[in-house]
Amino acid sequence: MRVALITGITGQDGAYLAKLLLDKGYQVHGMVRRGSTLPFERIADLTDLITLHQGDLLDQMALIRLLEEVKPTEVYNLAAQSFVPTSFDQPILTGEVTALGITRILEAIRTVDPNIRFYQASSSEMFGKVQEEPQTEKTPFWPRSPYGVSKMYGHWMTVNYRESYNMFACSGILFNHESPLRGIEFVTRKISYAVARIAHGLQKELRLGNLDAERDWGFAGDYVEAMWLMLQAEKPDDYVVATGKKYTVREFAKLAFDRVNIDWEEHVVVDERFYRPADVNTLCGNPAKAKKELGWQPKVSFEQLVHMMVDEDMKRVKLELKMKQEQP
Ligand code: NDP
Repeated sequence: MRVALITGITGQDGAYLAKLLLDKGYQVHGMVRRGSTLPFERIADLTDLITLHQGDLLDQMALIRLLEEVKPTEVYNLAAQSFVPTSFDQPILTGEVTALGITRILEAIRTVDPNIRFYQASSSEMFGKVQEEPQTEKTPFWPRSPYGVSKMYGHWMTVNYRESYNMFACSGILFNHESPLRGIEFVTRKISYAVARIAHGLQKELRLGNLDAERDWGFAGDYVEAMWLMLQAEKPDDYVVATGKKYTVREFAKLAFDRVNIDWEEHVVVDERFYRPADVNTLCGNPAKAKKELGWQPKVSFEQLVHMMVDEDMKRVKLELKMKQEQP
């Protein structure tokens, strides 16, 4: 029986990955943080099929005990303080979780069972101020946020444990990937949710930061497949996972408003409060290595992705309105 442990299972990618691994016949375990409210919305329909354990990337002993108890064959480390703007407000916490957290889990694996296969969720934000386009596994990093710097540390620790201890440790350098499960604070979901609220007359304005920022956006459901493929390969390696196409935030917003026949220019307001202290103006990945060696390629196009997100938020807002109206 293949046994997977997913950290960050309550996040966007955790939910898609858990579903993928269950479909492939894995026994799936997830590490969750204790909170005063239940943050399990994204995996609500899977909770009978997976086993959840309390733990935290900040707690070394808890990670060791978790590996001893679950005895996973594969560990997917998706947990992170993953929001770039928060990383400027909380750089130390971001470093503890998103950087040192990776060493804690690598150390736990090395201690308990170094044969466990390990996936690290690295990020295109490591490229930051880009040195060449499109970016490949060989493009030099120049991160532009505490988040990017932390991910870069985690990336090199993953490489280092592979080289030092011969561990099957892979780093997936994933470019932005979105879905209807994306956190509401991320720009794509902020747009799709606002479009749905504007279409239902609940809001008038959508305030955004840099409309010219260019990103290579893919669908999270496609990207978790690449994570799994990396751990099935003959040898561990690092891979860029991207679509190879880039679009501006402006193009995303226009397409999203077009979906509900509303003129985006009447509602979008540029607000400098949403500018980053140091911005990443453009990112576009070259997924050639993942295509060639893993046989991976994205299936959902940019347009399909935007439409999927707007359509789901339209349903969600409609339901929210209905529930409100039904309240006594
Ligand atoms: P999310 O922000 O949706 O999920 C982050 C997860 O990490 C949540 O489950 C969260 O738990 C958990 N977490 C946060 N802090 C801790 C901690 N101290 N200990 C344990 N768990 C913690 O991220 P995504 O699903 O979008 O991304 C998955 C991973 O991929 C992240 O590492 C992200 O940085 C990386 N990545 C994402 C990209 C994207 O475009 N989505 C691009 C490149 C990399 P809780 O629910 O309790 O908050």
